[in-house]
Amino acid sequence: MKDALHVSKENYLKAILEAEAEGHAVIPAKLAHWLEVSAPAVTMALKRLKRDEYVVAGADGIVRLTEKGREMAYKTALRHHLIERMLSEIFGMEWHLIHEEAERLEHAVTPAFEARLLKKLGGEGMCPHGNSVLPESPKKKQKRGEVRLSDAEEGSSYTVVSLQERDTKLLHYLHEAGINPRRKLRVTRKNYDQTVAIETPAGKAILGAPAAEAVWLKAL
Ligand SMILES: [Zn+2]
Repeated sequence: MKDALHVSKENYLKAILEAEAEGHAVIPAKLAHWLEVSAPAVTMALKRLKRDEYVVAGADGIVRLTEKGREMAYKTALRHHLIERMLSEIFGMEWHLIHEEAERLEHAVTPAFEARLLKKLGGEGMCPHGNSVLPESPKKKQKRGEVRLSDAEEGSSYTVVSLQERDTKLLHYLHEAGINPRRKLRVTRKNYDQTVAIETPAGKAILGAPAAEAVWLKAL
């Protein structure tokens, strides 16, 4: 049995690794937001992670993974990815429920089970949110011709390619707004207040900038 402390350590490291892969600088306040924990809890956790040499914090306040931290984070990210694909591809679970379930189950995966999952699913596929084991950098996505919903053009139609999945509440919010990976949407209006009006097969919705920035699209 792993204790709660161990579980949260892995979650912290995975969140930092994913954010780094997306090109975000990680500061403690962002970790508190993503992991839905208090600022003092983040301070405590980072203190332990620094002591155990999983992370370093620069004078600029930015938290970075050490080699040891990166290794453990990647292991957790891979298990998360495999569990998500198992829930989706084998059990047909809905994409907006999967991330939360995988957050719990990833800690229970033994090396033997991980090897079975890898054999069954392969290491190359995408999770139901359109992401590989680690999210790709915005630069790489843009090179493939993908744009964020916040940068999409008024009047144009797109297919949803991937969603940033660190934030469970955001995934539920996107689902309610009718945004589904692989589903089509049309940008009907870009508003002065940086909200975006869209139309999907499920209906109309208006998204604020933080949600629109988390959705990657490809033009039809
Ligand atoms: Zn996912």
